[in-house]
Amino acid sequence: MAGYCEIALPVPLRTTFTYAVPDALDELAVPGARVVVPFRNRALVGVVVGRSNSKPDVPGIKNISEAWDPLPALPERLVELGRWVAGYYLAPVGETFRAMLPPAVEVRVARAWRITEAGQARLEALKAVASRSEAEVEDLALLELCALQQKPVEDRLVAKLPGGKAAAARLLRRGELAAGDVAQRRDSRKQKIVAWNPAAVVEAPNQPGRMSKARIERALGESTRIERVLNEERGPLPLPHLMKLAGVSRAAVERLARSGQVQIWEEPVAAEPGLLEADFTPPSNVLNEEQKRAVDEIHGWLAAGAFTVGLLYGVTGSGKTEVYLRAIENVLARGRTALVLVPEIALTLWVGRLCRAWFGDGVAVLHSGLADPERSREWWRVRRGEVRVVVGTRSAVFAPLENVGLVIVDEEQESSYKQEETPRYNGRDVAILRAKLEGAVALLGSATPSLETFHHARLGKYKLLQIEARVGNRPLAPVEIVDLRQDFQETHRHGPVSERLRASIAARLAEGTQSLVLINRRGYSWFALCRGCGAQMLCENCSIALTYHKRRERLVCHYCGFSLGVPKACPKCGGPHVYFVGAGAEQVEERLRAIFPEARIARLDRDTARSKKAFEQILGAFADGRVDILVGTQMVAKGHDFQRVTLVGVASADAQLGFPDFRAAERTFQLLTQVAGRAGRGGLAGEVLVETYYPEHYAIQMAARQDYPSFFEKELQFRRMLHYPPFVALASLLVRNTKLDAALRWSRQLGDFFESWGTRGIKVLGPAAAPLARLKREYRFQFLFKSRERRALNRALTEALAFCGKKEIPDRAIVLDVDPVSLL
Ligand code: ADP
Ligand code: ZN
Repeated sequence: MAGYCEIALPVPLRTTFTYAVPDALDELAVPGARVVVPFRNRALVGVVVGRSNSKPDVPGIKNISEAWDPLPALPERLVELGRWVAGYYLAPVGETFRAMLPPAVEVRVARAWRITEAGQARLEALKAVASRSEAEVEDLALLELCALQQKPVEDRLVAKLPGGKAAAARLLRRGELAAGDVAQRRDSRKQKIVAWNPAAVVEAPNQPGRMSKARIERALGESTRIERVLNEERGPLPLPHLMKLAGVSRAAVERLARSGQVQIWEEPVAAEPGLLEADFTPPSNVLNEEQKRAVDEIHGWLAAGAFTVGLLYGVTGSGKTEVYLRAIENVLARGRTALVLVPEIALTLWVGRLCRAWFGDGVAVLHSGLADPERSREWWRVRRGEVRVVVGTRSAVFAPLENVGLVIVDEEQESSYKQEETPRYNGRDVAILRAKLEGAVALLGSATPSLETFHHARLGKYKLLQIEARVGNRPLAPVEIVDLRQDFQETHRHGPVSERLRASIAARLAEGTQSLVLINRRGYSWFALCRGCGAQMLCENCSIALTYHKRRERLVCHYCGFSLGVPKACPKCGGPHVYFVGAGAEQVEERLRAIFPEARIARLDRDTARSKKAFEQILGAFADGRVDILVGTQMVAKGHDFQRVTLVGVASADAQLGFPDFRAAERTFQLLTQVAGRAGRGGLAGEVLVETYYPEHYAIQMAARQDYPSFFEKELQFRRMLHYPPFVALASLLVRNTKLDAALRWSRQLGDFFESWGTRGIKVLGPAAAPLARLKREYRFQFLFKSRERRALNRALTEALAFCGKKEIPDRAIVLDVDPVSLL
């Protein structure tokens, strides 16, 4: 025996597990390596996170059965990072490590059989006799097969024998075979592709006698969703992708395959050609003075080779990307590697393409939009050391790069860096910690830094680099606030397009430049109301108003996907007057088409840009000048560098202000500043119009002046007064269950438990109904914790989790969020 090791297993438990290391695996079962272990009669693939030689005080320690990786999947630094993430966010260790590993496409676990001593004896006996019964013939065949194979025999082989699995079960009962799981490598170079077959004859599900009405309806619903995804939105897809997008099981797809409605075939996995492959020469810009100063400073940090956090604070269009590229160039020249995080998949394409053009093939792009085999391939390219620059979204912070010298987090304030499922980490904060572990430079970039980050920069914890001017000294576009109350008095029309906005768009059309119209809501209307009784049409599963989608003629829940045909009459009072309130992107587009029938108008939101291809087509058409007016949600606000946009209109800035969230003002300010930055980026001067019913709100006023420092001061005051981050550490705990009484009972138990925490310097708010009191059929109660002492808070929450375990409150029912970004 070569000692013991501690293993993180992909189970939702907050502990690691101890196994013994057989001598043969001594050199393979090192920290970071994946191994196969027996766990509750199954075989699981876990990660070694520690080794020790002294026998731990745990009974019944089992052996590791197999080593999986010739090269440990995770470098040691990442093992350390994973442990930190699990500890800081109080997340289950195994699930944290699972998030760090490549998608497990190459692992398949199957049931397998092996012969026992009793089985050997029986085999000899059966061979010796002259005539055998039918059952004995079956037993003999099976026992022989198992005796011949060195390894356990998989189920699928057993099934081919005359006795099949029934014989195996019989021999298991007699103790002549033993069952277990084996982990198998799967051929990861092939994938199943599913395509819709429009030529097939559609049949209604038959056997009405045997299928319940509910089952028929479910089957119909599944096939409609599959058709929508395959036929309308995406085209042929890898099977797992389809299952995820349509929210259906493998069985549902296979059912349609049997009836000929879809076709399935196998295809080798090939790289998706895209923007990255396109021929592209980036502009070669000469740095201006401010950029040069920033670059010199960063080079100094890189030369010092010590952990440093820098904030590159530069207005939109100040050329921050150029600074990143020079910093990467410098760190590569020093023989180290670079990690670049961007907030959105679309930006990985753009930044990835720039990096390929600058740094050649050693650039990998990692994001969750890649199909599993493709992501796995890129991941291993990084792990084998073939890559020096990784560009990716949030989870790329765990990319297995070694010798990292620079970690860039672009648009560090973006909430997309926060993962809203276990492990609930913030990619920006993990990036800083990773830089610390690697002795690297973390460079955060933003035009509107988060309050936390700017606060640290002002205290000197982070180094501040500022770029005050835009490239070429282009002025920031002037912003005008349009008071929608006044517009209504003058025009007597409630509409998403005010007279001022209309006139301005008309002027742009006349001069042949482009307009961008932001509306931060999808769909046609925000909600549906009955004029007779005032009832709102709500989701069946969530305490949320349904959004009206006109083209689909449905009311849709944006949280759980539930949808409903548009009712002709109020479901509550039967009255005929259902009407729709608030304008979404679909409605703004419709209004603009009515006002400007000649203009070329496109819309970009999650409804029109469902695929990467559609997204690129719409943006491409706008960038090439084939579209005059682009309407869109926040998707249009970020990062893009359109040269001919001279007008940015914000049709209602208010959607976000109303959220019951302490970051509502900050979000509004950031969004408005960002979108205003899209105007006048080329040689042409720009103009920004912001429509609102709250023209005097400070977030709107200061965004209009693009005055970040004043906004920061004011908002910081509120945070100090109301005890919010960055002045306290914040955590939220949600108790959720489909049964109201259970959720209530557990909340009360926890409430009692938290009572004494005040004396430990932790302020507890709640239990209270969460702002989203019901979501996906679950009732939700919330606690908030605030403390000036992060350690004390972490310790207390650890105790709370232990308490939940003792009271048998299920893990699923508790959602713990440390440093939450959204409190809904
Ligand atoms: P930011 O990210 O700060 O908003 P970008 O990095 O997108 O700004 O730069 C805006 C535009 O300015 C890009 O088209 C970029 O190529 C260009 N640019 C950057 N630096 C220079 C420079 N020194 N001279 C000329 N153009 C530049
Ligand atoms: Zn819902």
